[in-house]
Parts: sequence; structure tokens; C-alpha cells
Amino acid sequence: MMLEHLPVGVALYDAESLRLLSANALFHTFMDTFLEPHWKGGRAIDHTLQEWLPEGEVSPILTIFHRTAETGTPYKSDEYTMYFPGHGTTYWRWTLEAIRDEDGRIAHLLATATDITKAVLDRKQAEIQSELPPHKTQQTAEGERRRLDVIETVARSVRESFEIKSIGKTALEAIKKAFAPRLVSIHVADADGQALRLLHLEYTGNEQAARNLLQYISYDSPPIIARAYSRREPIIIENVQEEAKAGRLSEQQPIVSAGAQGYVCVPLWFKDYFEGALCAFFDESITPDDVAVQTIIACGTHIAAALAHARLHESVRNERARLRLVLDRLPEGILLTEAMDGTISYANEAAGHILGIPDKQLVGTQLHRHTQHAPITGLNSQPGLPWYFSVIRALSGEVVNGQEAIVIQPDGNRVFMLSSSAPLRNESNVITGAVVVFQDITAQKSLEQQKNDFLSIASHELRTPITSIQGFAEILQHNMAQGKALDEASLRAINMIVEESQHLTQMIEDMLDLARIEQSQFQLRLAPHNILATLSRVIESYTLRMREREFQYTLDGIVSNDSLFCIYDEERITQVLSNLLNNAIKYSQSGSKIEIGLRPVRQSSGKLREVEIWVRDQGIGIAANELPLIFNRFYRASNLDRSLSGFGIGLFLVREIITRHSGRIRVESVEGQGSTFFITLPLVGPGPLLQQKAS
Ligand code: ADP
Repeated sequence: MMLEHLPVGVALYDAESLRLLSANALFHTFMDTFLEPHWKGGRAIDHTLQEWLPEGEVSPILTIFHRTAETGTPYKSDEYTMYFPGHGTTYWRWTLEAIRDEDGRIAHLLATATDITKAVLDRKQAEIQSELPPHKTQQTAEGERRRLDVIETVARSVRESFEIKSIGKTALEAIKKAFAPRLVSIHVADADGQALRLLHLEYTGNEQAARNLLQYISYDSPPIIARAYSRREPIIIENVQEEAKAGRLSEQQPIVSAGAQGYVCVPLWFKDYFEGALCAFFDESITPDDVAVQTIIACGTHIAAALAHARLHESVRNERARLRLVLDRLPEGILLTEAMDGTISYANEAAGHILGIPDKQLVGTQLHRHTQHAPITGLNSQPGLPWYFSVIRALSGEVVNGQEAIVIQPDGNRVFMLSSSAPLRNESNVITGAVVVFQDITAQKSLEQQKNDFLSIASHELRTPITSIQGFAEILQHNMAQGKALDEASLRAINMIVEESQHLTQMIEDMLDLARIEQSQFQLRLAPHNILATLSRVIESYTLRMREREFQYTLDGIVSNDSLFCIYDEERITQVLSNLLNNAIKYSQSGSKIEIGLRPVRQSSGKLREVEIWVRDQGIGIAANELPLIFNRFYRASNLDRSLSGFGIGLFLVREIITRHSGRIRVESVEGQGSTFFITLPLVGPGPLLQQKAS
């Protein structure tokens, strides 16, 4: 859009074939002055110079093009006269510059053309009229040359730089050099502040003072420049001092007190947007026809375009930077390919994380570098979709929403993702790339898997006691029907029914606890209790019930009739101890010993701080790599005989209960040799509740 409005013709050529790749409207106007009718109106685009240049022009112009394409030396024409029957003569200045690619190779040629017909004709007119004495004619020609030089410099700096500070500086230096005004300045409009802000200034005198004075000029302040905002036409004051004397200008005006004579202020408009003002004052009086005044006005057009360009550029850049900032931080992975060959042009950190390749390494690579050839499997060995399928579908025009896909990271790790993708299109609706957004759903997936496993285990686990209850109940029913008295077998059946019912209740309770924890409805009934007493009670019940097992009760640094008070929910701590004991029994040989121990833990000061309880077995143990996992819900170690009943929620509940008591739990284990679970609970005290009898 900018190029279309630049007051300079611009065209881009392929350096090798000299094919015209693109050109703005003004360049086409330039070309249309000399092209054969069937090449006019942009038809030369995509064709080589040799094809469309009029015969007479081919050889000199080709020479220039070849030289710049081969050596990189820029070309700058003088007045380039073109005469064609029916068109009259036009005068142009044109330039040619080499544009290099990243490897330093000349890839393109940039041509610019400035129409100087009017200026040249004016000059010729002046020369022809020759009412002026010969030296005056020469002066006019000299002025014209300077004028063109300045405009040329300004136009050039606009083309070469997007940086508005440097454009402003170049422009003002050129004006100063050519016409020696006392002051020349550029202000930019601060749309929010309803004011002009100084961009650059050249001043012969105390520059800092001038800068301070002109730094910020609000639209409702007295200086004349403040009025630029409400004007389209330049403000020209031929003689400031005379205006002041005649009372038409206030003595307070800075230009009056600075002793200026001629003053010009050009409002800088780009289409309907007020960009700022270009002002100059001179030590001599001026007229609107002065070359200096005309040049400054002409420069205004270029500077306005440059300011507009810089403003748009800046806002696009800010917009992009802001967008990037957001994208960079999104927890969703985002990947952009802006080319049909699948080159990744953007990836945020989350994308790098999910794909297992740092985002910096992803950018610039092609999609196919990250594809796998082996078939991909998902849960339960179902075939899965590789993640890049959705990119490919987007590149072929499809919008894909919430597709589950799988990534195999370079280290073999499998990640489940939910991905959505869409094609990117240019203004002509042609697909130019694709954007993909994805989330890591591995955790949800594995939980889903565990829940599925849990459901199948649970239905099996619950059915087992029900089957035996039913079996024993049927025996009793049968005996009753036969009128038998309660014999030994019936009593055993009744005991089994009670035991299995308890087991069933326990399992259901565990499941309910899990649900309560998930729904944050798990509550403790806290009160001070003697932990020694609680532990003894639990052990007693186990020794009574399980006569075939040997339970060893170890007290370290304390005797059994001491009291150690902790604040806890007695029912829950009993549940914890039973759980650890049940596991110790379940996961060890029936003849092996189980040790339950307790010791108070002292601080370095000697004060009692907490109590540690352990449950040690000589059973199957737990593999080192699974130790951190066994407290997770539904987790069951891989060394289990799956016929051992269990859901994998016992230890999860144990840890929940202990941490809710501000306690800790840990496990030490050697596979094949046994495990020891340690729990610690804080002691109450110091105070009356902590009574330690002399041992
Ligand atoms: P469950 O016993 O119902 O499977 P838990 O949550 O109580 O569930 O235990 C989780 C897993 O930790 C068990 O499946 C088992 O693999 C392991 N585990 C727990 N206690 C022991 C133990 N004393 N010895 C060996 N492994 C154990």
C-alpha cells in the first residue's frame, strides 16, 4: 500500500533474467510514456526487459542493467529525456540499485523513477523567455539543480530507511546544505496528546535552546506551527518582522523574537492523516516562488509519506510484538508454517516442549524432518494419528478441530495431544501455510486409562467377596432347609460371610474416600490422642486375627506405658496403620515376620518434635523406579502377582490422610527383600498433653 502512494516510481527486477517482478502505479505511469501499446498497463510484469523495451532503448539500458547486476554499482541517471511520437517529451531521473540476498549474491535490482518533466520545462521556459540577464538564467538553472538534488536526497532516504529519525535527519541536512535556512525542523503529530513533538531540527545558533522551545507544541498554543494541524496548504510568511511591525504577528511569537524574516511551515498530510509539520525560517525575506520554498514544500510530500510509513510499520510491529508475547506464553503449543513446503516459521515454547524439540530448533526446519515412518500406536495398541497429519490437512485447505494425535518425541517418549489446525490464506484466498494449536493431554489420557483399568479391576474385586458370601449363604440355606443344627461347617461359613462382608465394606469405603477427596469433602475429626495407645490397639487386633503371622512390636527410646500425644483423627490413623499392615501381609510370604516400630524424634535441642512409626516386611519389595509412583492413585507395581486383590488406592489414601495431619510418609525398599514404610506425625506440646513417664 505504501509503495502505491510513494511519489516515486519503484520497480523490482530479477537480477539474472532482468524480468520485471513488480512495480508501483507511478512506475507504470513512467513506463507507459514509452511502451508499445500492448505492453502498457502493467502487462510488462513477468516479462524481461529485452522483450518489452522499445527497440531504440534496448541497448543503452541493457548495458546499465547488466553493469549493476554484475558489479553492484548503483546507477543514477541525469535528466533522462524520452521522446516518442504522440507523447511529447518527458524528463525523468531514474536510479538502479542492486539488492543482495543473505549470501551476498545480487538477487534483485531496484529501479526508481522520478518525473522531473515539469521542473525541466519550467526551467527551459525561463531560459527561453530570456527576459532575464544571462547570469540570472544561470542562477535559475543552478537553483533548479539544487532543488532536484534535495528532493532526490529526501526521496532516496525515504526509500532506503524505514527509520523515521534518520529520514528526518537526512532531509533536514540536505535542505540546510542547499538553502542555508537559519532553522529547519520536523515535528510529528502526537495524536493522543493533540500536539506536535519535535523529531529533528537543524539550527544555526543555540541549538539546545531552540530544541527546548520547540520540543512539544500543543495544538492550542500560540506558535504558528501549532496551526499546521488545521491547514492543508503551506503557511508562508514573506517577511516576519514586517508582519510584526504591522501588528499582524504578536511580538511573543518565537519566530518574531528569533529575528526571522522569511518563514514557511508545511503541514504534512498523508491522505487524511495529519503526520506533522516541516518548518523553516530564513534570515532573508522570501516569496512563494523561491526555489527554497518550493523545494521545502515538495520535500513535505516525501516526508509525509515516510512518516506515514514509519507509523504503520511501527504499529504493525507493535501489534506483532504484542501478539508474539501472548503466543509465546500460551500453554497451548502453536506452530505456524507460512510456506506450502511446510517450513515452520514460528513455534512457541509450549510447542517445543510437546514435540520434544526446542522451539528455536523447530523454526526454519521443514515438517517432514519431524515425521516418523514407523506406525504409531495409541492406548490399548490402537493405531494413532501422527500429529503432523493435521498440518497436512490444513495445508490442503481443511479446518481440523480437536483431533487426538500422537507425538513420538526424539527420545522415544510418547505424548498424546489434541490438535486443531487451519489453513492460512493470502488476500487472494490462496493457501500460503497453516497454523496448528495443540495441547498435551497425556496426563488426562493416562488417567483415563487408569480409570478404565480401575473399573475393570473394581468389578472383579467386588465380585470375588460377593461370590463367596453367596456361596456360604447358600450352604447355610441348604443346611437350614434340611433342618440341620449349627455345626462346625456352618459356623465357618458364618465367619467367612462376616469376614468377606468386612472386606467388601472396606473396599467400598476406600472408593468412597477417593470420591470424597476428589470432591474436597474429606474431613478429619481431630483430637489429641496417645499414639502409643492407638498403635497398640491396632497391633493387638492383628495379632489376635492373624495367628499365623509373626508381628514384632519395637519401641525405640520409649516404653509401652508412656504417653505420646498427637492431634489426629483416630479412625483415620487406624485406617492408615491397617492399610500399611494389610499391604505388608499381602505382599510377603505367609511365614515371614512383620515389624511395627515407633520412636519419638528429637530436635537438635533435645526437645521432642514428632513421632515416627514404621511397618517393615520381608516381602516382594518394590523396584526403585516405581517407588515414586506407588502413592499415585490406581498405581500398582509391575512385580505383582495380579491375583492379589487390590485397587491401587490404599497408599494414595494413606498419603492423603498423613499429609492432612501435617505428617510425612516415605518408603524404603529393595526388590525381592522387603519394604519399610515410615510415617511421621507432629507431637503436641510442649505442654500438659505431652507426658513422658520416667522409664
Ligand atoms: P493395592 O495394594 O490395592 O494394590 P496400594 O495403594 O495399597 O494398592 O499399593 C499400591 C502398590 O504399591 C501396590 O499395588 C504394590 O505394588 C505396592 N506396594 C504397596 N505396599 C507394598 C509392600 N508392602 N510391598 C511391596 N509392594 C507394595
